Amino acid sequence: MKVLVINCGSSSLKYQVLDMTNEVLECKGLVERIGIEGSTITHEKIGQDKFKLTTPMADHKDAIGHVMDALVDPDHGVVKDMSEIGAVGHRVVHAGEKYAESVRIDDSVIAALEECVDLAPLHNPPNLLGIAACQELMPNTPMVGVFDTAFHQTMPPESYIYAIPYEYYEKYGIRRYGFHGTSHKYVAERCADIMNVDIKDLKIITCHLGNGASVTAIKRGQVLDTSMGLTPLQGLVMGTRSGDIDPAIVTFIREKEGLAPGEANEILNKKSGVLGISGVSSDFRDLEAAAEEGNERAMLALKAFAHKVRFYIGAYIAEMNGCDAIVFTAGVGENDIAMRDIICNDLGNLGIKLDLVKNKVRGKETIISRDDSKVTVMLIPTNEELMIARDTYRLCK
Ligand code: AMP
Repeated sequence: MKVLVINCGSSSLKYQVLDMTNEVLECKGLVERIGIEGSTITHEKIGQDKFKLTTPMADHKDAIGHVMDALVDPDHGVVKDMSEIGAVGHRVVHAGEKYAESVRIDDSVIAALEECVDLAPLHNPPNLLGIAACQELMPNTPMVGVFDTAFHQTMPPESYIYAIPYEYYEKYGIRRYGFHGTSHKYVAERCADIMNVDIKDLKIITCHLGNGASVTAIKRGQVLDTSMGLTPLQGLVMGTRSGDIDPAIVTFIREKEGLAPGEANEILNKKSGVLGISGVSSDFRDLEAAAEEGNERAMLALKAFAHKVRFYIGAYIAEMNGCDAIVFTAGVGENDIAMRDIICNDLGNLGIKLDLVKNKVRGKETIISRDDSKVTVMLIPTNEELMIARDTYRLCK
């Protein structure tokens, strides 16, 4: 069965088609500037050159229409007819407490996801637009929702409850949810496979370090804790997000700067993190180049990022009473040799010994700890799309 994976943002859409009989990626692509002048689709059939088309796309339905045209294109396509696509898997960011697993999408699922819009106002609406567009254009194809929050639903209450009046949890669902769940689950399962140990016998810390970043403690295959919270703003220092701060700072800055409602949120989400500290960039390559030229704030931003990752690794080792493996994944985790080195430096007493030679690697599944390291440190490129396709195939075959 061929599965189409869709990941819709507000003005962009990523897609892949995988043949799930052997888990082979057949094509992938990206639609950008949906609803904005200069909409483009970039499509790549695996093994061929990419092709790019700039054409007006007013909304997500237009965008999906162009994706379908690309999929059946005689030169670049992967199917003769859309009926060859057996199912569609949709990435959905927030499913609240409703779903701990991926589900076949029906009207009740849509209603439940609409209820979560308050919790993820930036993410769930475009996810829902993508689902609606696909349902309209492929009415007979089964659809599956795969949720960023699902894996984290295995977290115990003491990890997810905030110490604020309990009624806010009851009335508004204010609690830690956690994100990047599909990625954390994928790399944890790969880690267990590579170690050839049942995941139920492992304590794993997964570090998804990208522009958004989160760390998760996984004990016996279940999430014990994760660094993101009600929203993806909590936890690590990120590209442009503050991560953990004293909540009193928000009121303080609001009063001092006379901010309008919503402005503080914008500052903490878009103007903070390593960008906010450095004033240079949210991109770690730019920061490292600036630091090398002697930019002290760029250096401080990199150190603050590493400090927070180490802080969570230490906390999660304590929470799990040990750790068998640490996994690095996502843009920074997979590519930033120097950052992995700083994060793992001088942790020998915790049984973590990075091999500085093995660590000189990018984007490749590999062990980067020394043979005498008690904790196995790994680099595992994430593959959320494969995870979505697997769940979709399992629920629709
Ligand atoms: P992601 O959100 O997973 O796509 O990750 C994006 C982040 O990965 C950006 O901040 C990039 O700076 C970072 N990144 C990508 N390649 C490298 C690299 N070679 N060295 C350092 N950071 C990288």
